[in-house]
Amino acid sequence: MLVNLNEVLADAKAKKYGVGLFNTTDTDMLEAVISTAEELRAPVIIGTAEVLLPAGELKLIAPAIIAAAKRATVPVVVHYDHGLTFDRCMEALQLGFSSVMFDGSAGDYAQNIADTREIVKIAHSFGATVEGEIGHVGSADSNDNDATDLYTKVGEAFDYATATGVDALAVSIGTAHGAYKSKPKLDLVRLNEIHNALEIPLVLHGGSGLTDDDFRNSIANGISKVNIFTDLCLAGNAAMKDGLEKNMAYLDIRNLKVEYIKEQVKKKMLVFGCNGNS
Ligand SMILES: [Zn+2]
Repeated sequence: MLVNLNEVLADAKAKKYGVGLFNTTDTDMLEAVISTAEELRAPVIIGTAEVLLPAGELKLIAPAIIAAAKRATVPVVVHYDHGLTFDRCMEALQLGFSSVMFDGSAGDYAQNIADTREIVKIAHSFGATVEGEIGHVGSADSNDNDATDLYTKVGEAFDYATATGVDALAVSIGTAHGAYKSKPKLDLVRLNEIHNALEIPLVLHGGSGLTDDDFRNSIANGISKVNIFTDLCLAGNAAMKDGLEKNMAYLDIRNLKVEYIKEQVKKKMLVFGCNGNS
């Protein structure tokens, strides 16, 4: 069933487990994520991100994702990740996404608050939820994840959440997007302080490449939603490599890809502890 973020994250926060957001740029990934969630009886969040649209345009992928969410026997949030522009966030809501992230974290603080507040007002009128970001989760290609001045500050997080009315908040505590070059070090003390200061659930971006203990510690210290994408792509790459080495046909490689991605989703869900919660 199609639900919004509040309908899955309130329970996750209360029971201290994490719900995965697995971005799905095509129907192979979509099938892998939904079928694993159903097998494990886990609530799940799927969607796509603005930077991923060149690999799967919103109008093309949204009807498939939303129909799959409605048909699913577990709660599924269809979330637009890292909305960078107002127009694309509106398009996602109009297409039926039940949640959007507006990410104005790279820009000016006051502008981020004003833009996010406006999107919250509109999204709530659709019955959709909004995730915001304060502090900035950078890219693993740069050394942003070591730049502690970009980490989320407790006071700023509280002020931002209060001023915007967001339903969930992405925090910067040492993770980065993409594949890590060196082992990230998470600021769990800061995470715990933010968790104690705010009522809303917190989100960890840049989850691919973290250790199982990193996930468990983050969830124990207040994370309710974990974003995963790179690890699904790596699983897909491995399937294509294995399939080509074995001279498998296109459709057999496609099925192998779904199988490898399913294994990766399952592994993450079991670490997050979201299985058996729907
Ligand atoms: Zn992110």
